[in-house]
Amino acid sequence: VFQLSVPLNFLGSVYRELRQSLLDMETLFNLQKVNVAVKDKPNAEPLLLTAGEIKFENVTFGYRSERPILKNLTLTIPAGKKVAIVGPSGCGKSTILRLLFRFYDVQEGRILIDGQDIRDVSLESLRKAIGVVPQDTPLFNNTIEHNIRYGNLEASQEQLIDAARRAHIHDTIRQLPDGYGTMVGERGMMISGGEKQRLAISRLILKDPPLLFFDEATSALDTHTEQALLSNINSIVKEKKRTSVFVAHRLRTIYDCDAIIVLKEGGVAESGTHEQLIDRGGLYSELWSAQETLFAGDREDIKEDIEK
Ligand code: ATP
Repeated sequence: VFQLSVPLNFLGSVYRELRQSLLDMETLFNLQKVNVAVKDKPNAEPLLLTAGEIKFENVTFGYRSERPILKNLTLTIPAGKKVAIVGPSGCGKSTILRLLFRFYDVQEGRILIDGQDIRDVSLESLRKAIGVVPQDTPLFNNTIEHNIRYGNLEASQEQLIDAARRAHIHDTIRQLPDGYGTMVGERGMMISGGEKQRLAISRLILKDPPLLFFDEATSALDTHTEQALLSNINSIVKEKKRTSVFVAHRLRTIYDCDAIIVLKEGGVAESGTHEQLIDRGGLYSELWSAQETLFAGDREDIKEDIEK
């Protein structure tokens, strides 16, 4: 029995390590929701990114083909611009981002980045060009540093800290007992939704990809932190002329975008700048008024709280 316990212990630790790396793989796969049906074409060339223009041409897509979510959708996200996609819950906003990442292929039509059909380029080059902050970022069971550095393994310590600062998370991390070495995830410290979002944003800043997608990326933050973070994101996007797409419910977070695309039932209901859409008096202006009424209600509550 004694003789056996050594190799078993040894195997045990190999098993634990293996399990850990499998867990990491699992997180990674969840993170990217990799769909094995989507594969490189033979001899797929890398994506050649020039200006960063994104086009959907007559795209029809459903997770099950009998239930299309996007119907003959045509839209352009101009290079270097900040564009918002808004619309009622379930209209397919996040689906657009998933298709751009090529988690799924379209059933009809095509998606072009700088004129190249994304099905013709290598998946690796496509995904490298895109940075996404999803609604809920899974964390690796590892240190905070590892979780940010995953965006760019070669980054220097200064770059890492700069990214965390810009994402408004550096001070929070510094106050933790082990700082950047603090373990997070299931086997470490559980951090709040807002902290997770800020970690995801620092990961994105460190990765610094040409195309940036934000899917309700600041929804778990308080208004003050959200505004500060959005203005940092804005300055990065403007400074570097990154094409960026914001999926949002709360229109206050996107009203200053260069263009707003309003989806309804799988197609574009209307698009334009905030002012144009308000003047138009359509769906966007209805959503805006409804949210402003709510927001005004919130402000009254806050005022009352302060007065009390
Ligand atoms: P929300 O604003 O609520 O996040 P959304 O506009 O981003 O919604 P999507 O997440 O794109 O909507 O989903 C569009 C539709 O597709 C929904 O009806 C949803 O239930 C369905 N859907 C999303 N993901 C899947 C999936 N993996 N399999 C099957 N159906 C899905």
